[in-house]
Amino acid sequence: MAKLDFVTLRSLSRLFDRQGEISLMRIVIVASEAVPWAKTGGLADVAGALPEALAELGHDVTLILPKYRVTTRVSPHPVATRWRYQVPLGGGQVEGGFSQGVSPHGSVRVLFIEQPQFFDREGIYSAHGADFPDNPARFLFFSRAAIEAIRLADLRPDIIHVNDWHTGILPVYLREFYGNIPELAHAAVVMTIHNMAYQGRYGQWVVPLGELPWQLFDWRALEFYGQINFLKAGLVYAQKITTVSPTYAREIQTPDYGHGLDPLLRHREADLHGIVNGVDTVVWNPRTDPQIAHHYDTKSFSEGKSACKLALQKELGLPERPDVPLLAQIGRLDPQKGWDLLLPVASEALARDAFQLVVLGTGQWHYQEALTNLEKKFPKNLRAVMQFSPGLAHQIEAAADLFLMPSLYEPCGLNQIYSQIYGTIPIVRRTGGLADTVIDPVDATAKKPATGIVFDHADQAGLKWAIERGIKLWHDKPSRDAMIVAGMSHDWSWRRSAVDYLKVYESAMSAWVHG
Ligand code: ADP
Repeated sequence: MAKLDFVTLRSLSRLFDRQGEISLMRIVIVASEAVPWAKTGGLADVAGALPEALAELGHDVTLILPKYRVTTRVSPHPVATRWRYQVPLGGGQVEGGFSQGVSPHGSVRVLFIEQPQFFDREGIYSAHGADFPDNPARFLFFSRAAIEAIRLADLRPDIIHVNDWHTGILPVYLREFYGNIPELAHAAVVMTIHNMAYQGRYGQWVVPLGELPWQLFDWRALEFYGQINFLKAGLVYAQKITTVSPTYAREIQTPDYGHGLDPLLRHREADLHGIVNGVDTVVWNPRTDPQIAHHYDTKSFSEGKSACKLALQKELGLPERPDVPLLAQIGRLDPQKGWDLLLPVASEALARDAFQLVVLGTGQWHYQEALTNLEKKFPKNLRAVMQFSPGLAHQIEAAADLFLMPSLYEPCGLNQIYSQIYGTIPIVRRTGGLADTVIDPVDATAKKPATGIVFDHADQAGLKWAIERGIKLWHDKPSRDAMIVAGMSHDWSWRRSAVDYLKVYESAMSAWVHG
């Protein structure tokens, strides 16, 4: 295992700087989850991959994460450090530490914030379907502890990049309490919104809990309709704001998608950028994926995918039928993902025996129940696996013919991208990142060939129409193959997105210096 060496990394960075080969930045990314250490959703994919892509472009990158119980089960194992610090919380002091490790590719320094009472427990944000009641305390602590770790490890960042509500309060602490420490005050802050719906809203008791000044309990700062709003805090204090697709960046400025923060985002429109997520193309690659039954590429996908489909049908006990398309959906069982449209439409369509459907997801109980009942009704056409299983997700992406994402909103969405990489045609609603990453035949041009089916209206008729188009397309092999090749040939790597983030970082630094 590569051992982290701060000194070597730092001197290497300075060398590059002096030679002027690379305009080096010292970047610290702070997140509540990142692959491979902890994951509940797309944030973890971004926080795992973006730091490595930035480091590969020559920058000095540190990722700061909580050390959850699940984190310690993942290698490479972090190395304990001697540093301790105190975080003022609710009138007392909470002691923390941090251990250090490196990312799987060895290019990113990772600091794991240690506080066993807060993080050494089963679950990341919740247990048995209920959020931990001390989540505000946990993430107030984490945000301030991250600043302490930056100081103690002498990281001197140019950029601190925070993500979602969990770290929204970090820039507040940074500016209000650490403004007189030059190596911290120097840092510009960028905040990324991965999902507007989760804002971290809590009662005003959070003000004394976080030892925050009462004057910040104001609509121009942290207050939001009588509550504290962690996401809003970050949006007010960050120099630049990003979200995970250009369409979502526009949508969240409207009342329908802004969840009450749209006026603030309209106010900050000039500082708000949409950058579509990349994909870890080492992990998601049908040519090499160790989790799938057969490997394939743009030339061999017909045979490769047929073999994967057969293997999945066998594994899930579905009839081995090459003659009907296999549809799939992977993700949280949540209204956001369009389940209130999908369940009635699927129920009606499955009766016609025109396709098989595989669902992999965990989430709301009533959707699980509905899927169980539907599976009982159509045992030859539907398999619903209510687990969180990354391995099965890979197998499904390789095996499926069509992938359903009828989301009501979708900041970026990853599975429609994984689908294209694996030659699975996505059927998506025109919203957020889905609109930015899937091209319908109607919108296709010579330079931007069609890669999927896109429908506009979030109603059952819209979804039904889209599924029918998808099935018709599947039966038309030349059109289907052209679409598959277009999707598989696209460059979905993180490098492109990382370059866009660097531009935002540069503008944040300039805004902080000149603003
Ligand atoms: P969101 O962040 O809204 O949940 P995304 O599509 O952006 O949705 O990312 C979800 C990520 O989590 C994807 O990598 C997806 O494959 C994965 N995922 C979601 N549910 C499951 C599951 N039950 N098993 C395996 N992977 C899952």
